[in-house]
Amino acid sequence: LVEESYARIEEVDGEVQAFLTLDEENARAAARELDEAGDKGASLFGLPIGIKDNIVTKGLRTTAASQILSNLDDPLYDATVVRKLQKEKAVTIGKLNMDEFAMGSSNENSSFQATRNPWNTDHVPGGSSGGSAAAVAAGEVPFSLGTDTGGSIRQPASYCGVVGLKPTYGRVSRFGLIAFASSLDQIGPITRSVEDNAYVLETIAGHDEMDSTSANVEVPAYTEALTGNISDLKIAVPKEYFQEGVNEEVKASVRQALRKYEELGAEWEEVSLPHSKYALSTYYLIASSEASANLARFDGVRYGRRSENAETMIDMFKNSRSEGFGDEVKRRIMLGTFALSSGYYDAYYKKAQQVRTLIKNDFDKIFEEYDVVIGPTAPTPAFKVGEQMENPLTMYANDILTIPVNLAGVPGISIPCGFSEKGLPIGLQIIGKHFDESTVYRAAHAFE
Ligand code: GLN
Repeated sequence: LVEESYARIEEVDGEVQAFLTLDEENARAAARELDEAGDKGASLFGLPIGIKDNIVTKGLRTTAASQILSNLDDPLYDATVVRKLQKEKAVTIGKLNMDEFAMGSSNENSSFQATRNPWNTDHVPGGSSGGSAAAVAAGEVPFSLGTDTGGSIRQPASYCGVVGLKPTYGRVSRFGLIAFASSLDQIGPITRSVEDNAYVLETIAGHDEMDSTSANVEVPAYTEALTGNISDLKIAVPKEYFQEGVNEEVKASVRQALRKYEELGAEWEEVSLPHSKYALSTYYLIASSEASANLARFDGVRYGRRSENAETMIDMFKNSRSEGFGDEVKRRIMLGTFALSSGYYDAYYKKAQQVRTLIKNDFDKIFEEYDVVIGPTAPTPAFKVGEQMENPLTMYANDILTIPVNLAGVPGISIPCGFSEKGLPIGLQIIGKHFDESTVYRAAHAFE
């Protein structure tokens, strides 16, 4: 399998450009060792996996697609998720491209390369986990890990026609994840099927004493939830998810999916998430504020590549950051620093936190009556490379349907539900209650 994976990468990655770093020697050695030892019941025995490049891998280059980390060739430890995958005998094939520090929706913010959508290479794969979604869609690896702060697993999964889950906040340890916005970030699996996804989540989920925000909640056997029976399922469909800005082909595809749910015996009703119109602005205040604090450590001294063009200490800090960060990252740091500064904190950051609670309450209320919320994952299918780079606000709008889920901390999955006229995949988003990934998987699996 490892050989097949590298052969496929050799064949297609010149065009797709999903991988930033390959780990051929170590992966082959690990595979040989597994062959000799034999399968002793590990759930991911010998399966090749690709890891998003903001997840730390011991001894394997980890850059978060940023120039400031381009010299981090030899990290000292493995992220908890990587350790857990190794325990189940998955084999790391390499590291996957992303938008720099996970800021973006197209992979065009990577400081190394722009990954292409395998369905049509004139189009973006989505982001920020675009490399992770494209690698799975192109058959380079059977599964990968991505991260999702505002949609970065679900939106690229939707654009690339694969399955991507953002777990409940706290379900998966963030130890070893290079932080973007700590109160929103979650690591999750990107796979070809819902069943594969459930296997991977089962492996990586659970409490970790190295991450104080990881929850001490039992991890169920997710694969056992895939019964095919959803006759008791009550689905809420938010009317805000079909409003202007959502493309007609996407709406039609999701309505078709709802008809299939009816045929399978589930019931659905239209509901309202009244505060979702504030989600985008709330997210960009909170995420940027947290990013400005998290990225302060990359100063060329504690972390990050140091500028060679500096004579004074202050210039060394300034130049290391000016040279090391790309435009989008700088934009977020400035926005976040502004929102947190005295005199503006109450008007922006604090207000955003209050609105975040309203958005969470909207979901809590719906979940008193319904099991899942269903709508589109993204307002459009994959757009063309270069098309949205001019205007950051247009780019931010891609996440309008995924962001509320991160703000509320609930789990959400994207599964393929059709194609646009141009042959690009469309994704269906299924959102569940806190720590109820099982029902999300059950609903997703029955549709598949
Ligand atoms: N596209 C969003 C952003 O740029 C979401 C990113 C993410 O989920 N990591 O912030």
